[in-house]
Amino acid sequence: MTPDDLAFDQRHIWHPYTSMTSPLPVYPVARAEGCELFLASGERLVDGMSSWWAAIHGYNHPQLNAAMKSQIDAMSHVMFGGITHAPAVSLCRKLVAMTPAPLECVFLADSGSVAVEVAMKMALQYWQAKGEPRQRFLTFRHGYHGDTFGAMSVCDPDNSMHSLWQGYLPENLFAPAPQSRMDGEWDERDMVAFARLMAAHRHEIAAVIVEPIVQGAGGMRMYHPEWLRRIRKMCDREGILLIADEIATGFGRTGRLFACEHAGIAPDILCLGKALTGGTMTLSATLTTRQVADTISHGEAGCFMHGPTFMGNPLACAVASASLSLLESGEWQQQVAGIEAQLRAELSPVRACENVADVRVLGAIGVVETTRPVNMAALQQFFVAQGVWIRPFGKLIYLMPPYIIQPDQLRRLTQAVKDAVRNEAMFIA
Ligand code: PMP
Repeated sequence: MTPDDLAFDQRHIWHPYTSMTSPLPVYPVARAEGCELFLASGERLVDGMSSWWAAIHGYNHPQLNAAMKSQIDAMSHVMFGGITHAPAVSLCRKLVAMTPAPLECVFLADSGSVAVEVAMKMALQYWQAKGEPRQRFLTFRHGYHGDTFGAMSVCDPDNSMHSLWQGYLPENLFAPAPQSRMDGEWDERDMVAFARLMAAHRHEIAAVIVEPIVQGAGGMRMYHPEWLRRIRKMCDREGILLIADEIATGFGRTGRLFACEHAGIAPDILCLGKALTGGTMTLSATLTTRQVADTISHGEAGCFMHGPTFMGNPLACAVASASLSLLESGEWQQQVAGIEAQLRAELSPVRACENVADVRVLGAIGVVETTRPVNMAALQQFFVAQGVWIRPFGKLIYLMPPYIIQPDQLRRLTQAVKDAVRNEAMFIA
């Protein structure tokens, strides 16, 4: 990368949630291997982000690479309308086998946000087909489900600036975010507002949509599993569908293969993405029950009204299948348990720091919530100087490393976080 390339990037390329007129600096990465990113400048950074929950097996993984290389020689892509192929069948077999039993019909899409759109559309078509159209979704505040319009309409209204889209965005129902913590006692009062909202709108609600156990980008909050058991019961009582968005939590991140397992429940619709391909390619899946799929299929349209160009992309399916095979070995369980124990031991002491409001750990997720917003540009530079890649936002500094991370690498990440929160220069004055 030349200085000219960087200047071009700055002038012409949008980065996620970034200003085009005064963008924050970006760091050129030349390659990635195992748990390390290699900057074009020659520095090596231990990766604390798994490229936003995705690269669970680490980078440049030989089995994942081999799956893609061999698939490229057969076909990279072919349309999915009127055609099927072995990579899709093999992947969907695995998904049906590894997800809760009632989920047996798989829709493959391109990204997490689209998986959420598909889930919401399934719920809408389901009620339409039953001759009782319903158009609202009930969810928690502090949720995050993606950046497309349907998904945005169930994201936290403040974090995702619903004010910008007033009049355009569907108006959904927001219950207060759960207060009973994953690591605390269940408080019966937590349910009151949610139950009231559901009761008041029970004939309008098509589905409840939640991120099970961990609310990710909307605040990295971790809530009590009793919540999911109660929501499941309430949905069953009213016949309302339950959508679990496990795009971030799926595939072992929380210490269980799927976060719903902490509560022993199954949703009616499940969204998967991110780690599905081990962080190599974009692919997502929305699974549902036979009953939901049959109901939709018997409706006015006679089919589910969705079919993206790159649906079931063979290259993505082949690598996803290889990634699930790696998970099938079960090694992730010890890896994630080891990461959890180390994160607890090494991050807990910063609770005492006056800049720290809370420390939360679950599975391979470690969160330090600060009392004040961090200075993102300064902190990013600080972390790079420490040889780690950690991307904080707002008051949240969090780690979710690849499962293969070694204890000494993880120690570098936790040490960098500890040093950062004790450094006043890392906060907005
Ligand atoms: N749902 C959840 C829970 C997510 O964390 C994300 C991504 N951060 C999405 C949906 C959207 O996925 P994508 O960015 O692939 O569209």
